[in-house]
Amino acid sequence: MGPAPHALVIPFPAQGHVIPLLELAHALVDRGFTVTFANSEFNHDRVLAAMSSEKNGMALLDRIRLAAVPDGMAPGEDRNNLVKLTVQMKEHMAPAVEELVLRSRRADARGPITCMVTDYNLGSWALDVARRTGIKSASIWPASAAVLATLLSIPKLVQDDIIDSKDGSALKQETFQLSPDMPVMHTADLAWNCIGNHGCQAALFRIIVDGVRAVANCDFVLCNSFHDAEEATFARFPKIVPVGPFLTGERNGKAVGHFWPPEDDACISWLDAQPEKSVVYVAFGSFTMFDRLQFQELALGLELSGRPFLWVVRPDIGHGAVHDYPAGFLDRVRNRSMVVSWSPQQRVLAHPAVACFVSHCGWNSTMEGVRNGVPFLAWPYFADQFVNQDYICDVWKVGLRAEADKAGVITKEHIAGRVGELMGDQGVRKRTNTLKKLAQESVKEGGSSHNNFEMFVDAMKA
Ligand code: UDP
Repeated sequence: MGPAPHALVIPFPAQGHVIPLLELAHALVDRGFTVTFANSEFNHDRVLAAMSSEKNGMALLDRIRLAAVPDGMAPGEDRNNLVKLTVQMKEHMAPAVEELVLRSRRADARGPITCMVTDYNLGSWALDVARRTGIKSASIWPASAAVLATLLSIPKLVQDDIIDSKDGSALKQETFQLSPDMPVMHTADLAWNCIGNHGCQAALFRIIVDGVRAVANCDFVLCNSFHDAEEATFARFPKIVPVGPFLTGERNGKAVGHFWPPEDDACISWLDAQPEKSVVYVAFGSFTMFDRLQFQELALGLELSGRPFLWVVRPDIGHGAVHDYPAGFLDRVRNRSMVVSWSPQQRVLAHPAVACFVSHCGWNSTMEGVRNGVPFLAWPYFADQFVNQDYICDVWKVGLRAEADKAGVITKEHIAGRVGELMGDQGVRKRTNTLKKLAQESVKEGGSSHNNFEMFVDAMKA
């Protein structure tokens, strides 16, 4: 018999990646794996701090060993600069991860690391470490399969003159479709065209192209999606294996993987006091920023809607002044609202009082809303969130678009109007329930995502 299965799981250092990969890590522990979870040092500290503020939150550490590796950024440097972070990690994280694998062979009570599950967005280096150290590897893509399909199609996009071969910039067309039944994509929303500044675009594009090369040799490419959500994409790209939607952000009622401590008790006891399907839940993930005008317009739109609302305002979400609410706003809505800096989102969306989700359409939020059967007011901010909005509004038809006026502002009247429309839309409600059932069936024993995950587990154990 070989050594017991020991997986090294490595997320990209961003909130929307650490949360789903930690859930995957727990799912591996459930199936008899030992797991070492390698966060960047910066995020390791944040995750530990958030867990220790949770009642018995540290108990979950008995299940998973959290390790920390340097990301190469200087203290205080802007880690929202994803391009710089990506470039630095290749240089600094790769040797530290390789050392983790090698050290586990020399002296590790938990036994040697036998396989690696790496975030696709780490590029080629993690898979190269797996190859060099001779362990099995799988890559996990925590966004939609449709967006991964565009990366895997880069050679074809170049060949069809849609993007430039050197830096991936758009050539003639603004939009393209990989097949007639897949979503229409905008070249401007491709990751390398919208993340970071133009000077770094070519570097990011090269890293992504290199990642496409590396992934061709890895044993599995998993995706936090499910068959019925993206049937056409899975049919055309059989290499991408859906294993979701994950139950992200909580385990046995405890928050896991959060960078900020979720205000659990406050949110849940406030929701408990609200009537069924009455509350507008408003959250824009971990990156989205608003300018002052849009922030205030959103506040006034929620007020105008006349409905109870739970609004996540991250400490860094406002423009400059964090609490730059319209004059008197908080007093006027005090009796029917709750504003928190971070919520236990999965638990919130599962709460019967929640009626709809004003969302930036990050993929985790999208899957969480779908899994819990909550209709969306879809308000994307950048990158893949626009494709996710198309899925929500045009393909699955489980939400409505938030649309800007001529000046580029989503007005208070529009917000209040759309929330009202969404609440009364029986068609949306029906389709939301159908999609919820399909999502839940896929992860149940015998469901397609469940079976795919078991197949992956067996292959990693073999
Ligand atoms: N999230 C949360 N509480 C909040 C806001 C977000 O727990 O108040 C979680 C959310 O459930 C999701 C993740 O943070 O799992 C955000 O990921 P997503 O892909 O939606 O957006 P990103 O932050 O990557 O833009």
